[in-house]
Amino acid sequence: MRSYKIAAIPGDGIGTEVIAAGVEALEACARRDGGFTLVFDHFDWGSARYKKTGAFMPEDGRAQIKGHDAILFGSAGVPDIADHLTLWGLRLAICQPFDQYANVRPTRILPGITSPLRNVSGPELDWVIVRENSEGEYAGVGGRVHRGLPEEVATDVSMFTRAGVTRIMRFAFELARSRPRKLLTVVTKSNAQRHGMVMWDEIAAEVAAGYPDVTWDKMLVDAMTMRMTLRPQTLDTIVATNLHADILSDLAAALAGSLGIAPTANLNPERTFPSMFEPIHGSAFDIMGKGIANPVGTFWSSVMLLEHLGEPAAAARLMRAVERVTADPALHTPDLGGKATTAEVTAAVCAALAADNR
Ligand code: NAD
Ligand code: MN
Repeated sequence: MRSYKIAAIPGDGIGTEVIAAGVEALEACARRDGGFTLVFDHFDWGSARYKKTGAFMPEDGRAQIKGHDAILFGSAGVPDIADHLTLWGLRLAICQPFDQYANVRPTRILPGITSPLRNVSGPELDWVIVRENSEGEYAGVGGRVHRGLPEEVATDVSMFTRAGVTRIMRFAFELARSRPRKLLTVVTKSNAQRHGMVMWDEIAAEVAAGYPDVTWDKMLVDAMTMRMTLRPQTLDTIVATNLHADILSDLAAALAGSLGIAPTANLNPERTFPSMFEPIHGSAFDIMGKGIANPVGTFWSSVMLLEHLGEPAAAARLMRAVERVTADPALHTPDLGGKATTAEVTAAVCAALAADNR
């Protein structure tokens, strides 16, 4: 029997609630499949640990999970610690050294879910956003001097490397090629940012030459928000920088019904390191501890995890179970306008898995 080792890192806030739900659904999925087992190791990394020890994860933390087949991650962030400390101390402390440079974010309107866009139901909105996940605006290059003085200066330098841009463009063109429409939109801001973004455009055109079967176009990021809202059906695969895709994917999630259903995969495509799967959302301070967090983003991320492990049948089965559950408004959590709890949605997905006899 195939066996996979998964590192579960719930982190903070509703991260703990949705990861518990995700582990439950994945275990139900493995039981239903019968062809593989999942062995979960649980890590208590996050802000509580930071408050006790001064570090979000142990010094040898990455060594502890380097040998795992995948990572299931919740969220990093609490109200009483500055967000940049938690983000860099935990999430980016895993993504960056593990070279998870391709962040993949599918967006669809699931059955039973209503888009805030008029006349947009299902087929009109079916996207995958590819986010450059290792450099660009979040490279971490910059500094701050003369703190507190009138002459204080702070910089965050966007770093674009030929190697980094080339590999994400290749990844995006490959992904676009694998989808039925073979359509890629390259998001840019090369009118205002005349160095990094111009190189980004040039490399896109160079890489495109190797993919004559993929139709591609270029879109300035500001105009892209309009196109996503007004002409969603003209988009399919989208590639954008770290910052641009961060913002556009929250918009995409909202247009598809809720941030609570949006999944993401932080991939190290070469598989030198484990890849990490997580819902897009954060700790959701306003609802944490209430048991009403939507677990669907974590379930969908778990589908991506199973695909990455090479278990496509189990992945498809879990996605079918999720779609059966979203189709029933009685099983919608409050972010979708319903009254269901995290536990009820999770139980319903597990029951749908058990009942799936395809
Ligand atoms: P957020 O995603 O936590 O919440 C935004 C809004 O969406 C809130 O109203 C919240 O209730 C709602 N929401 C989010 N997920 C939901 C779910 N599963 N079910 C129902 N409703 C949901 O974003 P924020 O408020 O900007 O950030 C809160 C904290 O989370 C901050 O510390 C931030 O840095 C952190 N954060 C972490 C990650 C990550 O670790 N990947 C991502 C985003 C934000
Ligand atoms: Mn974000």
